[in-house]
Amino acid sequence: MRLTMLGRPGAGKGTQGALLAEHFGIPHISTGSMFRDAIRSGSALGALAKRFIDRGHLVPDDVAIRIVEERLTRGDCRNGYILDGFPRTVAQARALDAALHSTGHELDAAVEIRISDEEAVMRIAHRWVCPECGATYFRRYPACAERSRCQVCNATLTQREDDTEETARERLAVYLVQTQPVISYYEERGRLITVNGEQSIEEVFREMVDSLTRVRDELESSGAL
Ligand code: AMP
Repeated sequence: MRLTMLGRPGAGKGTQGALLAEHFGIPHISTGSMFRDAIRSGSALGALAKRFIDRGHLVPDDVAIRIVEERLTRGDCRNGYILDGFPRTVAQARALDAALHSTGHELDAAVEIRISDEEAVMRIAHRWVCPECGATYFRRYPACAERSRCQVCNATLTQREDDTEETARERLAVYLVQTQPVISYYEERGRLITVNGEQSIEEVFREMVDSLTRVRDELESSGAL
């Protein structure tokens, strides 16, 4: 299955994308993580991306499209993948469709995890991550979070540099102007699935799996998978 995860920053795309990838046995491809890896490695791509990420703005379309197109040519994407954080603009959505069509494929579904604006800002400002395994945690009190360790690998939790309240508000504004139209793009093409993101992680996951299993069964019975 070829899927993309959409939703406001903080909606849970990363958490749910990782769970879905494990469930369906396909790779989870996060453009945000790819940019953060590039920043850590000190590459020219990382330096360019950092200028935009630090301000809560989107990296230019041509850069995001190039790294995704390159990533999708790798062997592990043969049977499908879950994109997380891409496409973030209608231009990116069109480029993805064009790349897929050129290889005789289609995006099977775009899954929107829906949360409110207030919930998005609140979640991002209180989000802490494990620098080792990427697990995310919600910690309302910084003093307590600074002493917290990852429950999976015991590393000390950190905060993403772009997870401040100020940057969160900017990222949300950017989302509403540039990424919200991507939701309509997929809705108009009959490929949108919307789930309520303001439930427990397990409930959101179950809702997504139920919808996506139906999509997969339909594709299989029509011979498209
Ligand atoms: P994320 O981890 O998905 O929240 O992404 C973190 C940041 O990386 C975003 O705020 C953008 O600055 C940048 N980014 C990630 N994916 C894209 C994309 N598809 N297009 C442009 N910028 C992106």
